[in-house]
Amino acid sequence: MGFVRGLKCRECGREYSVDPIYVCEFCFGPLEVVYDYEGIKGILTREKIVSRPQNLWRYKELLPIDGEPTSGLHSGFTPLVRADKLAAHLGMKRLYIKDDTVTHPTLSFKDRVVAVALSKAREFGFNTVACASTGNLAHSVSAHGAAGGFKRFIFIPASLEKSKIIASLVYEPNLIAVEGNYDEVNRLCSEVANKYKWAFVNINIRPFYAEGSKTQGYEIVEQLGWRAPDVVVVPCASGSLLTKIWKSFKEMKEISLINDLNTKVFSAQATGCSPIVAAIKEGVDVIRPVKPDTIAKSLAIGNPADGYYATQVVKESGGYGADVSDEEIIDAIKLLARTEGIFGETAGGVTLASAIRLIESGHIDRDAVTVLCITGNGLKTKEAVEGHTGEPYHINPNLKSFEEALEKINSK
Ligand SMILES: *Cc1c(COP(=O)(O)O)cnc(C)c1O
Repeated sequence: MGFVRGLKCRECGREYSVDPIYVCEFCFGPLEVVYDYEGIKGILTREKIVSRPQNLWRYKELLPIDGEPTSGLHSGFTPLVRADKLAAHLGMKRLYIKDDTVTHPTLSFKDRVVAVALSKAREFGFNTVACASTGNLAHSVSAHGAAGGFKRFIFIPASLEKSKIIASLVYEPNLIAVEGNYDEVNRLCSEVANKYKWAFVNINIRPFYAEGSKTQGYEIVEQLGWRAPDVVVVPCASGSLLTKIWKSFKEMKEISLINDLNTKVFSAQATGCSPIVAAIKEGVDVIRPVKPDTIAKSLAIGNPADGYYATQVVKESGGYGADVSDEEIIDAIKLLARTEGIFGETAGGVTLASAIRLIESGHIDRDAVTVLCITGNGLKTKEAVEGHTGEPYHINPNLKSFEEALEKINSK
């Protein structure tokens, strides 16, 4: 058995037993998993974690499953890359990239949440899984659901990048392309979830699903040598990842895996969809929904479910937020590629471009141990940089032709 005590409403504190439910019946607040930290403390030690296989289940006592995991056994433990060349470019001292573009089977951090959601769905006895997706979740549920032998219903906005549609279809799920934006897809899915008793990973399984994001935070702490960073910059769609990274740091302090916690948490969004950052900048608690218009489609949630909680984390931790244009996103994708050899998707461009703004505005101290969360692989959103890269040198298959090209290259 695991260490989960139950579910608890984030608003009124009412407690519920572990079931595929997600809202409080009394106040409609979101439900969150609560653990027996006293029980975990002392059992989950640094030594025990280090002795386990390098995947996200090495922190399983802090994840909401009862038995052994059945999904995502090869997800997680992505590299924490010390980014000295990028740091030099930005005038920073200790800059790290949490590189979720690699290692995960579907090359985005969504493999973290799906690992937990599908393991939990199986424990609940579901044989059909579903999701409302901005792209990466569709890819991840399609893949891991196939491996787990689940029936899959995947709902996406019809305008999604072609590479993400193909990347999902190859696993042969039932892919439903909705003529509408993500917020409309999500509203439809809430209706579908009420009628059909499926495991909607980000609706009725959401309290469990969201816990998977904590593993990114645990890994950052472990890979920094058991310390929390001074600064973490997190891209926000629903705002869930940001709140869960914060929760992960707090838990590690609670169970004495770290001694101090002084991390400032920063939110990164595209200007074309920045309801969370707008609230942070205005210093208000109310999220004003927007109609998304940005190339960062994986972050294009105009009415973010965890937006309010994300603003509270930013406030509590002493962080801030920044939003960036599509042009800045593309420039940042290219900067990360040419300095560190890491090709991030549009969300990665949002994170780096926002960090640059926050460094320039003085909100991020150049001496701070800073971690940028790069959450998805650039091969998934090639369209975004198409036409913004250089061109190959076209030559004939002989040495003379090559040397003519070489002359051009050398004289650049
Ligand atoms: C989903 C997603 C996020 C953030 O999602 P939240 O809803 O805020 O948890 C960040 N980056 C990428 C690439 C994503 O797919």
